[in-house]
Amino acid sequence: MAKRSPAYLDALVRAALDRLGAATAAGVAAAVADAGSPMTEVQVYRVLGRLVVSGDVRPVLTGRRFMSADPARPDCVTLVCVACDGIEVAPTEDITADLADLARSRGFRVASVVAEVAGICARCNSGSPIKQEGD
Ligand SMILES: [Zn+2]
Repeated sequence: MAKRSPAYLDALVRAALDRLGAATAAGVAAAVADAGSPMTEVQVYRVLGRLVVSGDVRPVLTGRRFMSADPARPDCVTLVCVACDGIEVAPTEDITADLADLARSRGFRVASVVAEVAGICARCNSGSPIKQEGD
């Protein structure tokens, strides 16, 4: 098999994430295999690492997933519903700027800021409450 370029592998992984929404590395590996271009999970992780640094992919720490991102809009908080696995991306500059400032004040050179909140989404919260007060 001819050696595939990093740019080609990046495009394969991005296309898989665009189709899947949010996926684990194993899910991406299965999707690129289904599309006819198999990659090992290690190769997928290597590409995901590159795409996270470039801002093209956002890691979703809850559930160890990844999703496509816009490198021009890096300042977001990811909201993850632990009931339905839904993901909402909320743009914010204040919170991510504060986190970057905090890191810099401790001598960190900031490459990226990942902010995530796990909880119950509005839809799950209104439809079927997990636990009512007083239960
Ligand atoms: Zn939900």
